[in-house]
Amino acid sequence: MSDLLQIEKNIMQVLNTLPPDVQLEAAAKTRSAEEVKAAIKAGISIIGYNYVQEAERMRKQIDAEVSWHMIGHLQRSKVKKAVKIFDMIETLDSIELAALLNAECEKIGVTMQVLVEVNSGEERQKSGVTPLEVESLIRRLGSFRHIRVKGLMTMGPWVENPEELRPCFRLTKRIYDHLRTLNVPHLEMIDLSMGMSDSYRVAIEEGANIVRLGTILFGPRSRG
Ligand SMILES: *Cc1c(COP(=O)(O)O)cnc(C)c1O
Repeated sequence: MSDLLQIEKNIMQVLNTLPPDVQLEAAAKTRSAEEVKAAIKAGISIIGYNYVQEAERMRKQIDAEVSWHMIGHLQRSKVKKAVKIFDMIETLDSIELAALLNAECEKIGVTMQVLVEVNSGEERQKSGVTPLEVESLIRRLGSFRHIRVKGLMTMGPWVENPEELRPCFRLTKRIYDHLRTLNVPHLEMIDLSMGMSDSYRVAIEEGANIVRLGTILFGPRSRG
């Protein structure tokens, strides 16, 4: 079977096993435009990229009606470009980044959907907001008119056994549920993005409704 057919088959298989309320996002870093097109053909409607430049290159080659998500750390110097490319930033983690995003969106007259990234493993040096800071950040985001908070995203630490991520996913879901009970204007908590190829089953059990998959859809990434 050709590689592209294999990708289509992988995606249809995963789509068949996902609960109906869970959206499948393809984490497309390092994949060719042909591979991404095959994924879209098989039913992918959300494409996640870790780098602004790579997403920009791909957007020029792909004109399907899909949603483009930023899932890597967003550098401030890339915000201006990012607001023209992405439909959602899943990795918002500071008020400064939010202010920049808001300003650049205002300039071009768009509103950006964002997820707040939670550093659910409370790892030092890792991006994301610590669990205790999520609520206060989200409350402060209410003043930015060009940003719409849609939910939370988390990665969790690198682990051998995906079961070890369960507490991180559970904690993120608890914060998500708590935020849903708050009466914060302009806050619409509907998306919970958690789980990668090794861990998405655990993440879904813990309440994820967006899973970000790369390897299981496209095959192993070749090393640089
Ligand atoms: C690469 C990546 C994924 C997918 O990883 P796989 O293990 O290949 O499924 C998910 N989320 C983020 C943020 C990534 O960078």
